[in-house]
Amino acid sequence: MARLLEGRVIAQKIKAELKNQIYNLDLKLVLASIQVGENSSSEIYIKSQKKLCEELGIDYQLHKLKENISESDLVEFIKKLNLDKAVHGIIIQMPLPTHIDYRNISRYIEPKKDVEGLHPENMGRIIFGKAKVLPCTPSAIMELLRETGVDLYGKEVVVIGHSEIVGKPLALLLLEKFATVTVCHIATFQRGRLEEHVKQAEILVVAVGKANLIKGNWIKKGSIVIDVGINKVNDKIIGDVEFEEAVKRASWITPVPGGVGPLTTTILIRNLLETRKM
Ligand code: NAD
Repeated sequence: MARLLEGRVIAQKIKAELKNQIYNLDLKLVLASIQVGENSSSEIYIKSQKKLCEELGIDYQLHKLKENISESDLVEFIKKLNLDKAVHGIIIQMPLPTHIDYRNISRYIEPKKDVEGLHPENMGRIIFGKAKVLPCTPSAIMELLRETGVDLYGKEVVVIGHSEIVGKPLALLLLEKFATVTVCHIATFQRGRLEEHVKQAEILVVAVGKANLIKGNWIKKGSIVIDVGINKVNDKIIGDVEFEEAVKRASWITPVPGGVGPLTTTILIRNLLETRKM
């Protein structure tokens, strides 16, 4: 039976460190959060970010912009926040309406205020192993792997999902540790090759967003399973991996909820402090 890799518990430890650092600052930190239109999943993220900021004495400023705002007006809004000395970090809530492409927008956030680590400059630094601020979810995953005590050197790691916010930057962070990284995605699935890759994974990270995509009996015995997926099924939140069977085979597994999610929000706030050193 696998041990549970509980992000919630690690998040508490990091939170205690952050509290201490924030206590020693002689200013009130301000995190500006931009929400374009209404969306139920971004509401969940906003709620947890707001709660954590309140706990840590950070001013969380939510800016709700109209669903039909143009990309150029959104850029103007970001530029204003960049110039505002009272604002220390800027975050854009996802998903954005379809007429706005995050890849166009992310480069307008001042890299020093880019607490999500998604500005091309911050992303690019990862390639050189010189990142000053890391994207929150990959950073949370690395933190979870550290907690297991596993040595990543030469390990067979399979990452499923190659998005800009999770799979791609994570693959680079793993390579930095000399893991042997395989990245799978929709085309791997369409060729019917997902199972064979999963079966050889000593460490498996799944970030797709499809409930129970990964069958429990594919999981290699003794492996580490990080399930990033968040899926709402019959009013319950479940991951991308069939947990009931996977937990019997893995050595470590993240629960959903309570795994990657709570840690991601804490790392966002850690980034807010890290960007102050840039
Ligand atoms: P995305 O939609 O940007 O990317 C999905 C990826 O999955 C793509 O690489 C796509 O090719 C791949 N994919 C789609 N269908 C597939 C299939 N059948 N087989 C294999 N690969 C397939 O998603 P994202 O933003 O990276 O998020 C992925 C999941 O992780 C979502 O459920 C999201 O809610 C969750 N997420 C959780 C956190 C957290 O903090 N816990 C953070 C970010 C995302």
